[in-house]
Amino acid sequence: MPTIPIVKHARCPYCSKQFEFISVAQHKSFPFCCQRCRDIDLGKWFMGSYSIPGREGSAFDPESDDMSPESDAT
Ligand SMILES: [Zn+2]
Repeated sequence: MPTIPIVKHARCPYCSKQFEFISVAQHKSFPFCCQRCRDIDLGKWFMGSYSIPGREGSAFDPESDDMSPESDAT
């Protein structure tokens, strides 16, 4: 009985294309269909972490930590 690799199916989160893969370790670009999609998506997140839109209107301001419980030391 020959060893038949179990082909799994997944959908690329970037281009929504369905692709087949044998194992996550073998599919280098997992969970993306190809290396290109992976690079684009990772690059998108990388860029996003640098360009912070609407900094003035941001709800999270790391400098305003007056409410820190550590300053309430007795
Ligand atoms: Zn893709």
